[in-house]
Amino acid sequence: MNTTVKRKWNMDTTIIHAAQEPCRNTRAVASPIVPAVAYAFGSTDEACAVVSGEDQGVYYGRYGNPTTKTVEEKVALLENGEAALGVSSGMAAISTALLAFLKNGDHALVTKDVYGGTHKFTTSLAPRFGISIDFVDCTDLAKVERAIQPNTKVLYIETPSNPCLTVLDIQALSDLAHRYQLTVIVDNTFMSPYLQKPLDFGADVVVHSATKYLNGHGDVLAGFIVGKFDDIEFMRKHVMGDLGQHLNAWDSFLILRGLKTLGLRVRQHCRSALKVAQFLENHPAIEHVYYPGLPSHPQHDLAKRQMKDFGGIVSFIVKGGYEAACTVINSLQLAMISFSLGDPETLVQHPASMTHSSIPEEERVHFGICGGLIRLSTGLEDTEDIIDDLRMSLSALDF
Ligand code: PLP
Repeated sequence: MNTTVKRKWNMDTTIIHAAQEPCRNTRAVASPIVPAVAYAFGSTDEACAVVSGEDQGVYYGRYGNPTTKTVEEKVALLENGEAALGVSSGMAAISTALLAFLKNGDHALVTKDVYGGTHKFTTSLAPRFGISIDFVDCTDLAKVERAIQPNTKVLYIETPSNPCLTVLDIQALSDLAHRYQLTVIVDNTFMSPYLQKPLDFGADVVVHSATKYLNGHGDVLAGFIVGKFDDIEFMRKHVMGDLGQHLNAWDSFLILRGLKTLGLRVRQHCRSALKVAQFLENHPAIEHVYYPGLPSHPQHDLAKRQMKDFGGIVSFIVKGGYEAACTVINSLQLAMISFSLGDPETLVQHPASMTHSSIPEEERVHFGICGGLIRLSTGLEDTEDIIDDLRMSLSALDF
């Protein structure tokens, strides 16, 4: 197979074939799992060349693995990046990327509504290493520019955001950030490279929780960081490897398998999510629906330009606040109450008391995470069944 033609393939073909060829030894089409931790070298010179990076190769399991390398190459190609690093979770990707670009005394700007774990890392662990953070409303470029300090090194964004699905202008924010020499890191978990490629809009680094759409089956915890080759190698050797956050061969294999159906899965997630959002928007028990595919979404036009489709997550506020939200969630029969997203099963959760519960209440409400907010990850079940489940559970409310 000729690797030089790969970037000319359309996305669905690239997803299946990029970075994967039949095994030279066995002719196996599915990539073999190589669980080895130790690798043998013909001479000390050979070992030295690999460990120094002069020659490509794997030398010890904590710094890389052949099966993981295959999935790293694939994810890098899908994101149009030079290189990718597979790590043990989405949080490992986020913390590794931030720690690679921030050191004691540095400051980072973080978009105001981010995943609860990212909020926790930036407010509790990062300050212990002398890194300071400010949350800023990244829909407002003037506010972002005003928040930049002489020691600001990173702009970290998530778009669409978790859980309020705020869409941020990656190109405009990258242009602004680069005028101040900031590194722009984008969490692309909600979109996957099938729907959005932040590097094409000027971002420097992409992070993923591969636990979600990339693997797509709810049976692997993993993360990826995509960016420039030198940055990724620095992270591999000086952050991920030293902290022991590597991705193992078995999970890499499962992600390679899950990735093959990324296009099929994501298209179905998007189809159902739009119909669910339209249903909810017309329901009398609903106060507000957050879905970038609805014309009522404040960044709908930007979403159309930046994203290929609008994703599988729909968030909504039910009238009646916390009590009503719990009643609806607890009345669902198909959707499962779960902290994750991007799986074949429809998953539902209450951000204020579940994924974002570590954020202090006042701040949470300021970020739009109120008691009545519900986040739904539309699964791959029949769309009508997902909607019927919601219709039935909403009928438990007085409206
Ligand atoms: N980023 C986003 C947007 C998420 O929703 C999550 C988890 O829900 C993460 C990162 C963290 O991923 P993981 O649970 O794989 O560490």
